[in-house]
Amino acid sequence: MQSFLTDFIDCVNAFQRHPQCTQKYCKRVRKGKVICRFGFPIKLKNISKFECLYDDDENLIDVKFLPAINDRWMNKHIPEHLLTWRANTDASMITSAVAILF
Ligand SMILES: [Zn+2]
Repeated sequence: MQSFLTDFIDCVNAFQRHPQCTQKYCKRVRKGKVICRFGFPIKLKNISKFECLYDDDENLIDVKFLPAINDRWMNKHIPEHLLTWRANTDASMITSAVAILF
């Protein structure tokens, strides 16, 4: 039987690592530039932080959580969810009522 850690590493690499960007899978042209439609490679970040978004009248409309990232090809995930679901998942922290609706 595989150890918990070995199983987790296998799941992360099988389901959460973005494969090489290709024309058929994820490359798209936006504003004249070829980009990955999933946003890979992700910009590395040493620290986690919250980002506040305001409307034109400077009212707070949303707060986003931007986690620290040390692997530019790894999708955000929750380990417990990944190990039970055993497929690709995407996870984001709920930071507002608006985030729940969309
Ligand atoms: Zn891609």
